[in-house]
Amino acid sequence: MLSDEDLERYSRQLMLPDFSLDQQERLTQARVLMVGCGGLGSPVAAYLAAAGVGTLVLADGDVVELSNLSRQVLHGEGDIGLRKVESAAAYIRARYPRCKVETIPARLQGALLQETAGSVDLVADGSDNYPTRFALNRACIAQGIPMISAAAVRSEGQLASFYPAEGTGCYRCLYPEVGADTALSCRESGVMGPVVGVVGTLQALEILKVLSGWGEALLGRVLYLDLRTYGQHVLTVPRREGCPDCSSVD
Ligand SMILES: [Zn+2]
Repeated sequence: MLSDEDLERYSRQLMLPDFSLDQQERLTQARVLMVGCGGLGSPVAAYLAAAGVGTLVLADGDVVELSNLSRQVLHGEGDIGLRKVESAAAYIRARYPRCKVETIPARLQGALLQETAGSVDLVADGSDNYPTRFALNRACIAQGIPMISAAAVRSEGQLASFYPAEGTGCYRCLYPEVGADTALSCRESGVMGPVVGVVGTLQALEILKVLSGWGEALLGRVLYLDLRTYGQHVLTVPRREGCPDCSSVD
């Protein structure tokens, strides 16, 4: 049940004519796994906690480095050398005490990934490599939960939302080729700081949509942005026949 204080805290979104108390309650009940506490995870975790998501599970095996600070806005100068999950958790706990935060200071894989995916309602993918993304995709399909995946490099971003249990394609349907370890990374290709912030903020919005049912989610589609020119387009990701990851889903 939402308290009087909650009604005040979330009043500006509850004021929307098409956003109800029930939808706010759904956010309060939700458990979201955020994979990656860097440039994408920073705005995602902050906006989800601010908007009233009940529990965030933060997973990242890295520590904060000086070169992160140009865009990973949950971390500051004094956090260099700390685990990113601890730095991020401290930021969230200090500002949004209504949000419960759990931390996993490791790269999620194997049994830990399965167990963690089985304990949440949705997975937010803000990781920086394809093997992790493909493993998350399989874990989400196995658990029948949605995966909201984002990426940003240079001036470009993409946001994709998959829920095969509800009939959409999956991340592997979007990238059927194995050996995608040629992916661009911010470490090698660079990125303009706010580009990651825009894409991460859109990822947070998509997560709120999927959890609450508000607005029109991207489900089954991918949004491409080039923020150098503000160009954008959206493509549908149909379920690929014979997809090794999702073709077993009814
Ligand atoms: Zn698939």
